[in-house]
Amino acid sequence: MLWRTDGARDLFEECRNSTKACIKIRTKGDRTMNCDWTCQNCSGSAFKEHQYMYHVESDKRYLKADRIRVCLSCGYGESLPKTNKSSLNEYYEKVYRSKGHPHYTTRVNPYITDRSISQLGFLSNQVELKETNAILEVGPGEGTFGKTARKYWPNLKMFCIEKDKSVRSLLEDAGYIVVDSANKISSEIDVVFSSHCLEHFSYLEDFFSIVSEARPKLGVFIEVPNCTSLYYEGRPYDSPHLLFFTKKSLEEIMKKNIRSNLVTVKSCGHSVERSTRNMKQSKSWVERRWSLGRLMYRLPAVLTSKILQAWSILRFAKNIEKTNASIDEQSYLYSEDTGWALRGFACTKKLYV
Ligand SMILES: [Zn+2]
Repeated sequence: MLWRTDGARDLFEECRNSTKACIKIRTKGDRTMNCDWTCQNCSGSAFKEHQYMYHVESDKRYLKADRIRVCLSCGYGESLPKTNKSSLNEYYEKVYRSKGHPHYTTRVNPYITDRSISQLGFLSNQVELKETNAILEVGPGEGTFGKTARKYWPNLKMFCIEKDKSVRSLLEDAGYIVVDSANKISSEIDVVFSSHCLEHFSYLEDFFSIVSEARPKLGVFIEVPNCTSLYYEGRPYDSPHLLFFTKKSLEEIMKKNIRSNLVTVKSCGHSVERSTRNMKQSKSWVERRWSLGRLMYRLPAVLTSKILQAWSILRFAKNIEKTNASIDEQSYLYSEDTGWALRGFACTKKLYV
C-alpha cells in the first residue's frame, strides 16, 4: 500500500496520465489503494470518477480524456489523462470552430446577448465603471461581451487573448486589440474578464498565470458552468470542457490563485436540468447534421453566412436596447446553487498597487 511515500508524487503523476482509472473512491482504511491522490484545490483525498463523454467523438484524438475525477470534499473535477498543451493549442487553432463542428461560425459580427448584458450588470456592481479604463478578456470567442461592453461603456479599451485565429477579424470588428500575452500591457489592465473559458484549460495554473501577468488593478471576473452532482446525472457530453467547478471550489480556487480574500461567487441562469435538455438537443443536432453529410456546409459560404446573419438579427435584435431590468426570461437571475452557471469576481484593489 502506498500512502505518502517518497514516490507518491511520481505515482500520482503516473495515475493522472494513465488511461486506466487506478481507483474509484479512496476511503479510510482502503487496502486496495494503489495511488496517493490529493485534490488540487482543497487537499481532500476522497474522489469519485465519471466516464468522460464526447460531444464530437473525433475530438478524443486531441483531448485524450477518458474520465473525470471529482473531489468529494469540494466538488472540483479534472479530466484525466491530462490533455497536453500542444494538443490543446492545435485543437483550438484548427478544430474547435472548423466547418461542421458545434462552434463553427460564419457570423459576420458578434451579437449582443442576454448573458453578456447580465455579466456587465454584475461587473458594474463590483467595480466603478468610470475607474475602469481597460480590460483584458481571456478567451473572448467571437467577442460578444466586448460588443456589449462597448455599447454601454464606449471609452473602454479592450484587449484580448484568443488562440483561435479564425475569429480574429470578428474580434477586431468588435473593438478588441488582440495580444499574445499580458506581458506588455499589464500597466494598463484594470479588470481581467473571462466567460466560459477557464473550463477549457487542462491545468488551472495556465489560466492563472495569465491573471498574474496581467496584474489587474481592480479585479478578476470568471464565469464557468456549475457542475453539481445534478450535472453528472444528466449531461450527454463533457467535451471540450476539461475542468469542472462547484460554487465552493470556484470560490476557493479564486481566493487561492488570485490571492484575494474578497471573492463573490453566485450561481445564475436557468436550471442545470434545463441546461442538460439544451445539451441533449445540441448533441442530437450535431448527430443529425453529420448523418446528413453536412449538407448545410455544402451551401456556398456567402449564402450560409447571410442566412445565419439574418437569423441572428431576428433572434437577438430585440435585446439590443435592453437594460439589466428586462433580461429575457429572467434567465440570468441569481439562485442559491441551482443555476447552470457560476459567476465570480475577485477584488484585487489592494494586491497590485
Ligand atoms: Zn477538493
